Amino acid sequence: MKPHRLCMTHHLVLAYGLHDHLQVFKPRKATSEDFLQFHAEDYVQFLSNITPDKQQQYMNQMQRFNLGEDCPIFDGLFEFCKSYTGGSIDSAARLNHQLSDIAINWSGGLHHAKKAEASGFCYINDLVLAILELLKFHPRVVYIDIDIHHGDGVEEAFYMTDRVMTVSFHKFGDMFFPGTGGIEDIGNSTGRYYSVNVPLQDGIDDNTFTELFKFVMQKVMAQYQPGAVVLQCGADSLAADRIGCFNLSLDGHAECVRFMKSFKIPILVTGGGGYTKSNVARCWANETAVLLNKSLAKDIPFHDYYFEYYSDANYQLRIHSTSNIDNLNTRAYLDSLKQRVGTNLSSLDNAPSVEFKEAPPESKLPEMDEDQLNPDERYGLSSLQIQPSSPVRAFV
Ligand SMILES: [Zn+2]
Repeated sequence: MKPHRLCMTHHLVLAYGLHDHLQVFKPRKATSEDFLQFHAEDYVQFLSNITPDKQQQYMNQMQRFNLGEDCPIFDGLFEFCKSYTGGSIDSAARLNHQLSDIAINWSGGLHHAKKAEASGFCYINDLVLAILELLKFHPRVVYIDIDIHHGDGVEEAFYMTDRVMTVSFHKFGDMFFPGTGGIEDIGNSTGRYYSVNVPLQDGIDDNTFTELFKFVMQKVMAQYQPGAVVLQCGADSLAADRIGCFNLSLDGHAECVRFMKSFKIPILVTGGGGYTKSNVARCWANETAVLLNKSLAKDIPFHDYYFEYYSDANYQLRIHSTSNIDNLNTRAYLDSLKQRVGTNLSSLDNAPSVEFKEAPPESKLPEMDEDQLNPDERYGLSSLQIQPSSPVRAFV
């Protein structure tokens, strides 16, 4: 399965010539064993065997694992999971081994998947598995989620630990999916205060979103001092998304990426949701450029595949939005969010330490030789990993 929006992103990255500044790798496919680091065995087993023609026979399990409506069974489902998850785990391993300072996997970011349950078109949670990989080397990891939906699967996985701080900015209320992520959800047990939720109302715009994002993330980074960052860049928080209700422009969304890059800490950047395909591709190509310190021409260069999709905004790198969603996030509401989150963060112990008693087994990085890859096949990939031409020296 090659989702359109990922192919479009890929071809737009190529059209802008950004691949000349990237190291592009074909990631290893993740295995069932990798999945079991987080997911339940019976769930993984079922995913590996189920096919569209067999689902009628297994209605009980289909229900138990929440498969069907939002999470349909399609041909090649398990291979699809292996591909996007392999990209995220390999990215984490490259960061761990200091082979890259920044890694991108636009095909990853499936943040809703639970231990034994699919949710919101997420089957295997590549983010959780990548974070587990990072935790082998780093005492503390920060996970940030700017998809319009709450990053519930990742939050749930690390709700009881202080080794991962999850921070999610999302639409909350009006029965919006998945319905979790209230400001009062702050983690439990050792993880108390290590889950941060920033619940937002319809229509948030660039100024208010980026102001809030920077306020929260500045505090998180100062207080928690993570060794690595995972940033889920779901593009359904953009204006004119088919199911979203925010008002972010490409620049507003990308400003979050630019801001997190400025901390010069190893970072894995992934995709996520996004339902207006042309804008998803614009968003992620633009953010690839931001991570490379490049700026892109406003006019999208002509290219062979999918070019016609960009007619919606006159073939330009911008979002054409006809809707006028009012920003329901009042100044008073935003200030109250800042105050609540600020108070919670100041309740934290400063940067909890971890004693590594025994080195955990590392994920093996595949031998990757770009020259031996079939360029046609490589260009069909939806995963990119990059190293800036002048690498950020984040490691000392
Ligand atoms: Zn989403």
